[in-house]
Amino acid sequence: MPRPRFNRILLKLSGEVLMGPGQFGIDPDTVARVADEIKGAKEAGHELCIVVGGGNIFRGLAAAARGFERTSADYMGMLATVMNALAVQNALEQIGVDTRVQSAIPMNTVCEPFIKRRAERHMEKGRIVIFAAGTGNPYFTTDSAAALRAAEMNCDALFKGTSVDGVYDADPKKVPGAKRFDTVSFNHVLAADLKVMDASAVSLCRDNDIPIVVFNIREQGNLSQVLEGKGTATIVQN
Ligand code: UDP
Repeated sequence: MPRPRFNRILLKLSGEVLMGPGQFGIDPDTVARVADEIKGAKEAGHELCIVVGGGNIFRGLAAAARGFERTSADYMGMLATVMNALAVQNALEQIGVDTRVQSAIPMNTVCEPFIKRRAERHMEKGRIVIFAAGTGNPYFTTDSAAALRAAEMNCDALFKGTSVDGVYDADPKKVPGAKRFDTVSFNHVLAADLKVMDASAVSLCRDNDIPIVVFNIREQGNLSQVLEGKGTATIVQN
């Protein structure tokens, strides 16, 4: 069955995607390449907004396991996403793409606070809005923030850029012959605990009927292809 073309999407970029070949931090060449992908999709007529993760810099849960107080650690993780958002903004603006960063934790000298109506206005004007600081609450993840913002911004789909080309019934890097799904239901993903996004993000998308499109963002031109209903990806849907 042909896949649909998506008009307005929320793109979730995990921190790992911005790390490139390194084990930590932000790789400028990788960020520039991701920015090119985003520019291509915008030029093809799609509307995009972005949620960035922070795991390439700081993860609250991992830090808490090593003795940090959890809520402080989570705030540090949220601040890490702001750094990533500024890096993505910088790379996009260097290639002439108009953007705004909005943070769920207000920090007015750095970027705008998250204001839904204002974000909508930016998108109407053709700007790409990059949402930073997750949901603004500890004990959440940027996956949940992506599902939340996708619903708030009336997106047709949540695009999850990863380093594999979809959702498999087992880890394709470990299990030879693992099978890739073209489509899979939210309920199957939750019941089989398939590693797509965390369970609260998946159930928020299920309840609001927002498909999650899992695709390989490291492959050049793939974002635009998948947006047009071509290329290889898995759609998680009701
Ligand atoms: N975080 C949080 N609340 C949110 C979003 C993120 O507390 O709404 C913190 C949490 O500590 C998390 C860190 O920010 O570990 C980085 O986000 P995440 O792990 O989701 O980044 P990704 O895995 O996408 O790179």
